Amino acid sequence: MLEGFNPNRYAVIGEKNKREIVMLRGRGCAWRRCRFCDYHLDCDPDDSLNLELNLAQLRRVTGVHRKLEVINSGSFVELDPETIEAIKGVCRERGIREVHFECHWMYRHSVAPLRACFGGIGVEVKVKIGVETFDTFFRESYLGKGIPVDDPAEIAAYFDECCLLQGIPGQTAASMRRDIETGLAYFQRVCVNIMQENGKPVKPDLRVIAAFVREVYPLYIGDGRVDILMENTAFGVGGVTT
Ligand code: SF4
Repeated sequence: MLEGFNPNRYAVIGEKNKREIVMLRGRGCAWRRCRFCDYHLDCDPDDSLNLELNLAQLRRVTGVHRKLEVINSGSFVELDPETIEAIKGVCRERGIREVHFECHWMYRHSVAPLRACFGGIGVEVKVKIGVETFDTFFRESYLGKGIPVDDPAEIAAYFDECCLLQGIPGQTAASMRRDIETGLAYFQRVCVNIMQENGKPVKPDLRVIAAFVREVYPLYIGDGRVDILMENTAFGVGGVTT
């Protein structure tokens, strides 16, 4: 848990994949071993406190773009069941046709039931996985991601979208492009997150970030299937508000 963490938890994204986004809170990521991530600290073991917070954010959703993205510092499985029901209610009431969630590899078998659950009310589910890189050795030995799979097709069999982590030691412009191209070949959408300092062992590499800005960013910034987050608050959620 993060004492005093008071982020903005609702935003409307008006470009590329237009949607509303809510940052809800769950019991917390059960994996917690990624060596670059402190994001999982936004959690509370008390379901009733989480539900109260989540309902307040969901009340802000208007359905303006008929699409909603739900993030929760972990996987949708870690949201309490009443929050999932509340998300369904918001979809029904605000005419939302598509809802996006995040999920770790270890919960891949929970994705199909989620699709069926929302499919029953006519809402399509899209699930995003943080792959970070398709270089399995780098991903598992250095990042500690917990996806012991070499074949991108095996990951894409469960998930619709992927996140990539770029701007870290060991990457090059060529390796970052290769990862984005692989992501685009196997997934509907790719979200590139540029590494930011956060006190965890994996650090941003300023030379790699400069190479990204110079040689990779211009190639994909106009691609409607690629989101690029130079800062992790770029979608308008996260960070601190007073
Ligand atoms: S990146 Fe995702 S799976 Fe890894 S520790 Fe953070 S919240 Fe958990």
